Formats: sequence, structure tokens, C-alpha cells
Amino acid sequence: MIVFKFGGASVKDATGVMNVANIVRNHQQEKLLIVISAMGKITNQLEDLYRAYISGMDHTQEIFDGIKAFHFNMMATLFPDHKNPVFDDVNNSFVEVEWLLEEEPSDAPDYIYDQIVSIGELVSTKIVAAYLNSAGCQAKWVDARNFIHTDNNYREGNVNWEKTEMDIRAQLPQVLEKNIVVTQGFIGGTSENFTTTLGREGSDYSAAIFCSCLHADYLTIWKDVPGVLNADPKWFDETERIPQLSYRDAIELAYYGATIIHPKTIKPLQNKNIPLYVRSFIDSTAEGTDITTAENHLPVPSFIFKVNQVLISILPKDFSFIIEENLSDIFNIFHEHKVKINTMLNSAISFSVSIDDNAEKLQALIAALSVRYQVKYNTGLELVTIRYYNQQTIDRVTINKNILLEVKSRNTCQIVMRDKEHTS
Ligand code: ASP
Ligand code: MG
Repeated sequence: MIVFKFGGASVKDATGVMNVANIVRNHQQEKLLIVISAMGKITNQLEDLYRAYISGMDHTQEIFDGIKAFHFNMMATLFPDHKNPVFDDVNNSFVEVEWLLEEEPSDAPDYIYDQIVSIGELVSTKIVAAYLNSAGCQAKWVDARNFIHTDNNYREGNVNWEKTEMDIRAQLPQVLEKNIVVTQGFIGGTSENFTTTLGREGSDYSAAIFCSCLHADYLTIWKDVPGVLNADPKWFDETERIPQLSYRDAIELAYYGATIIHPKTIKPLQNKNIPLYVRSFIDSTAEGTDITTAENHLPVPSFIFKVNQVLISILPKDFSFIIEENLSDIFNIFHEHKVKINTMLNSAISFSVSIDDNAEKLQALIAALSVRYQVKYNTGLELVTIRYYNQQTIDRVTINKNILLEVKSRNTCQIVMRDKEHTS
């Protein structure tokens, strides 16, 4: 059996959904499970809705109406006679959110977030499943919350692999005998049947979980790019497709922030030796990138670029050395504030880290660190990570830049920098 994952960009409009149906139709003879994300940029809009709701903003209903209208317009184009039962089905899903929005927001914010934001995947899969059926594919909509079991760490649910594997294996193989299974990425359920999410962009991870539990032959992630590129075209003019990638390099690239694949996706596949193919949904027969056990090295240096970085230097107030005890204390503070460190370097009396600038989290983090440490920080920086670097590639990315920090290991170089004209 095989698993396909379609992200939001592939179903951003009715033409996209029709294109997905064409791709699926070409694989109808296989046992196929499809994981689908929320349509287009709907997850961002649902996040806006969540924020508006918890802070009691006037335009809450307006945002919600916009989200509903998007889906109803989509259905109107896909099912012009308006008779498909999916209209009612989607409407019922929205009514559940409506009820939630009518109440004062008294539950924990992360819990509320998951109940609202998960709706994007629920309705997108309902629409795609209905369309596949109308287009002659035998599709069955499956609620991922009954299979992907998580703890109640809302917004970043941790998967209970044992329970998940047991239920998937017990129930899905027979459904796959006769149907194409259509299910949601990104969402799961707690033991009390509350909805959780797995972290932004988590649909790839969901697809990998289904693959692992069903021992899939392979996973294809369908994207709007021709495969894994050696740099993000947003930042680099010249990019190259990487035809073959080892699991190891894929993990490293994802870990350092290449947005092509969610970092948690690779490990479950690697453990079971399941190949991951990244393909273009725009040109579905073109070669893409094959991620496998192959031990071949990345053929070209790869660049991962992150903007909006903050470099924080942390010094013990008593000028003592940075020793293990301080380090574990510092790491704990980062962990408690759920702040991910992008790169770090320590010297005898100071410890420096670069993190994403998230205004809400940053102030709380700095305040917590400042209790025991002297803290200095610079904002508005860039972080570039080069996998398989050489001096030439470093020179290329640091033209007209001031380097604030450089960390090198054998295969990876990370540089925190800012434009030269910058004065502060
Ligand atoms: N819809 C979710 C997001 O945009 C999950 C995903 O697309 O992977 O983050
Ligand atoms: Mg997405």
C-alpha cells in the first residue's frame, strides 16, 4: 500500500482539487491512503480567528464568515448542482465552531487553539473525499482523531505510538481493500476524545505515522516545487533540485529549517526503511527527489536561510565560568518557554544562541534569564546554515555582511549575520 500527502497549496482552489483527483485516479489500482492539509492559507486564517476570539475582538465573526465563504465557494464550483451531501456535512463542522465562539473563552488557550484550527483539515478532507467520489474514485473519509492518539499537550501533541499503531493496524487494512482512504494531516485525539494538533506543518508527520503503522511501500509528498532544492528560491536566484537524498541529510536539512519537509517526518520512515518521494503536483510525472537509505552525500552545498533572528548572549552575573550547571539551567529556561535554539556557541564566560524573533515569547524568556544572568541581545539578524560548505560558499553568502557568530562542524556551517550598513 502507498500513502500520498497533499499540502494546502495543492488544494488551494477548485482546480487544485480537480488536479489532486487526476493524480489519485492514476493510482486507483493501488491500495492508497491520502493525507490532506487545510486548503490554501486557511490554517493562518484559523489562527487569526483563534487570536481574535480569545482577545474578544469585534472582527471575530467577520474572519469566521470569510473562512466559511471560502469553503462554500469551493464546493459551489466543485458541485455546481449544490446537491452533494457534503454541503451539510461541512456546515455541521462549522456549526461546532460557531458554538464554541458563542461562549466566553474560558478554557486554556492552547486547547481552544486546537479545537478551532483543526477544523481546516476536517472540512478540506470532507470536500476532497466527496469530490473524489463524484469523480468516480471510491473514497472513504476517515477521522484521523480516532487513529492518531496523542497526549493532551495541545498545539504540539505527542503521539502515543503503541495505541496509534494498534488501532491503525486493526482497522484500516480492511478499509483499504476496497477504498481510497482520505484522512487529515496535522490532527490527533486525546484519550478523552479531545482534538489536538501536532504543530504547524505537521501533516507530513501524520503521513509518516500512517506509513509506518501500515508498513507502506512508499510515501509521496506532492508539492508546488519540483522536489527538494538546495536552497529556497525565495532567497536564492540559482537553485538546483537534489535528485537523491539520504534520510540523514534530509533530517539535517529539515532540522536546520528547510521548510520542505516537517522535521519529525523522516525518522519514522527511516526506521521502517520506507522511501519518501517528493514530487510536483503541477507536473506529476516529472522526477522529483527520492529520499532513501542511499548513503550518497548531497551533490551540492545546501543553504538554509532564516531571517528575523535574535542573537542572545548570556553571562553569569558573578562572572563565573559557563559550566555544566549553568548550561543545564539555561537550557531549562529555554525549554520552559518553548523556545527553539537555532544555533549556539559557548565561550568561557558567555553562552550565545540564535532564536526566531517571536515578540511574545522573547520578552518572557529574557525576563526569566535575567534573574540569574546578564543578558544582551541583538534583533533583526539573519542565520544561514550551509550543509557541505566550503570557503567559497561562505564568501558567497557573507558578501556585505557583518558576521556576529560562526559555528562550524565537519559538514555544517552556521553564520549569524546582518547587513554591513546596519549600525546599532
Ligand atoms: N494545515 C497545517 C498548517 O498549515 C498543517 C500542514 O499543512 O501541514 O500548518
Ligand atoms: Mg500547510
